[in-house]
Amino acid sequence: MKVVRAVSCIAHVNPSPSHRFAVGPSLSPTGRGIRRRRSVKPSPRRGRGWPAPGAGRVRGPRGAREEDRGHGMRVSLLTWFLVTVLLLGAVAPATAGTLQLDGSFTQGGLVIGTTEPDAKVTLDGKAVRVAASGRFVFGFGREAAPEATLLVEHPDGSRSERRLTIARRDYDIQRIDGLPQAMVTPPEDVLARIKAENDMIRAARAIDRPEPLFDSGFAWPARGTISGVYGSQRILNGEPRQPHYGVDIAAPEGAPVTAPADGVVVLAERDLYYTGGTLIIDHGHGLSSALLHMQSLTVAAGERVKQGQPVGTLGATGRATGPHLDWRINWFEERIDPALLVPPMPAPEQAEQ
Ligand SMILES: [Zn+2]
Repeated sequence: MKVVRAVSCIAHVNPSPSHRFAVGPSLSPTGRGIRRRRSVKPSPRRGRGWPAPGAGRVRGPRGAREEDRGHGMRVSLLTWFLVTVLLLGAVAPATAGTLQLDGSFTQGGLVIGTTEPDAKVTLDGKAVRVAASGRFVFGFGREAAPEATLLVEHPDGSRSERRLTIARRDYDIQRIDGLPQAMVTPPEDVLARIKAENDMIRAARAIDRPEPLFDSGFAWPARGTISGVYGSQRILNGEPRQPHYGVDIAAPEGAPVTAPADGVVVLAERDLYYTGGTLIIDHGHGLSSALLHMQSLTVAAGERVKQGQPVGTLGATGRATGPHLDWRINWFEERIDPALLVPPMPAPEQAEQ
């Protein structure tokens, strides 16, 4: 019985209290992700959005800092500039193009890039869509390899090649034995239904919409207590279950649910077997949010939504043990950790504001 006590999804996992903090926004288990994350997350000063296209663009190693200095620095800056130009010329003759990357270089991390609109971008040889604004997005799944190669072919013929180091994460794994088998395996007569629903969800996540709607940035779609985290996994009666790919937000039934980012609703179903009331919002370029176990949906497939717009209410529909919103993000089939895209969940008293 203790298995179902916490408010979460039956099929998935609840973190131990200590693990909850281990994967929160301030942390990577190894600490390796921290430095990069800071440069990546939308900072409070900038608001929730990503940096605007071109904002903070740095053409040389010190470009942004030079602008902030006083007149007295001009001579040394000029020297710096000349040295920089000479070094760039000597070491990398073909790096005239623009390339900026902001994001979390860790398993479950998402990266937003900016380059020229006509640049060609590939990640490990796979084409990545570039918007008319020069924006592009890619992400790393739960078991992403430790390295990836990003290649950008700029319109002027130059190339930027970046070897990306992807930080490894440790996930909470729980072994639970001696459960009644009916809790572990879904009944035979719902298997066809589950497969049909999975096909529908897979099709929604395969959409490659050209608009970079993710440029709105991300915000929590509900306020509450984090009761489940990305990547955790249960092994029931020796059988590994699918890892938990979302972040669970426990709150009273009927609490408002809002769009975490701009997008287009591509799936709105009231009664899926596992996930109950389910919304999938397409943020463009293969990036989508899923909002699960909802009590009610107030938007329909095909509708455009803005970040913060109400889309329904929080519930305990489908296979859930109590009212919570399970928020997931996919970049196509890659599972992204939503908690890496938003500030820490506000404390309850702040949530009242
Ligand atoms: Zn969940």
